[in-house]
Amino acid sequence: MNCRICQSPIIKFFSLGQMPLVNSFLKKEEIPDEEKFDLNVGFCPKCYLVQLINTVPPEKLFRNYIYFSSTSKLFLEHCKEIAQYFVKRLNLGPESLVLEIASNDGAQLQFFKDLGIKILGIDPARNIAEVANEKGIPTISEFFNYEFAKKLKEEKKIQADLIFGANVLAHVPEIVDFVKGVKIILKPKGTAIFEFPYIKGLMEKKFDTIYHEHVFYYSLIALKNLFQKVDLEIYDVEITPMQGGSLKIFISHPGTFEINANVKNLIIQEIKDGFDKLETYQKINKSVIILKNNLIHLLKKLKNKGKKIAAYSAPAKGNILLNYFGIGENYLDFIVDKSEAKQGLYTPGAHLLVHPLEKIYQEKPDYLLILCWNIANEVIEQLKNYHMAGGKFIIPIPNIKII
Ligand SMILES: [Zn+2]
Repeated sequence: MNCRICQSPIIKFFSLGQMPLVNSFLKKEEIPDEEKFDLNVGFCPKCYLVQLINTVPPEKLFRNYIYFSSTSKLFLEHCKEIAQYFVKRLNLGPESLVLEIASNDGAQLQFFKDLGIKILGIDPARNIAEVANEKGIPTISEFFNYEFAKKLKEEKKIQADLIFGANVLAHVPEIVDFVKGVKIILKPKGTAIFEFPYIKGLMEKKFDTIYHEHVFYYSLIALKNLFQKVDLEIYDVEITPMQGGSLKIFISHPGTFEINANVKNLIIQEIKDGFDKLETYQKINKSVIILKNNLIHLLKKLKNKGKKIAAYSAPAKGNILLNYFGIGENYLDFIVDKSEAKQGLYTPGAHLLVHPLEKIYQEKPDYLLILCWNIANEVIEQLKNYHMAGGKFIIPIPNIKII
């Protein structure tokens, strides 16, 4: 397999084996036909890009996506802050156009709309785009790429003042074509902003961000190469707490803005941390095995004591953890998730029936394994009645914690 940016051979450093598609929840009758696909990660020694060795066709992954972004309160607050921040920083007004790629149900665009900015969403999941349109968020159901961007520019006579994409840059196998599309649809003085999980998380045992949708695990040194290739420039970068540690990068046509010192500083830090070396990534194997052994040991011990254990929420990352660690009915009594779209369906691979949150209060488990560990504080706050009644939480990542 060759690098998707520079075509050099890539070297495998971590394998999760065969994994199900972690956003494809199943009806009971679909369980026997569930497909699994290899999940291996490799490193390109030439351009430093970390990427999946094998990919699954996007049509299989995204056309019936079950994730509705508006379900988390914390997430909505984050969206609101982002809209206010971008509008101020980029001086956006009623004449400006914000284009969001992978706009989901329009949760983010809604806040730009509220501020009087023109908006357009693009999302390949037809079912979710439909929901967005019904809510008054104009959304085109398509995959964003160069051809699409060119057509949009020529037919609709538009270019964007702001292109925004949260959790999309890591998802697109044809990434060079994608950023070429960004180049053509971005106004001469416009800014494109992308937010995605930072590769540093992999070194901090947050391996559960590895799943088939995430083709790329970006360092800034790799991104610099990517954008240079299509004549775009990274002029600022921020590290954010989203998804347990994300990067937010600011892109423009070359020379439009002064390059913030953050960019240079982070590149220096990454070289210091060895993000340009295969050995750095190979260390992930050992740390994940230790984590797995410790968690299984804990669950076994609790089970032997007759404790009742349930899992809280079934995010993509949680399904990776369950499958890779071999956790299912052997340790868990049940799983709950507040997304109605998931309730009544079975989790990928582990095949646990997803229940609504009320089940926690009916069954009163002794322990709740928080699979959405990145928002553990929010979960604990929401479930304070459970906690006060003696229920305990297990946070599995990055270090096992019982609260
Ligand atoms: Zn490469």
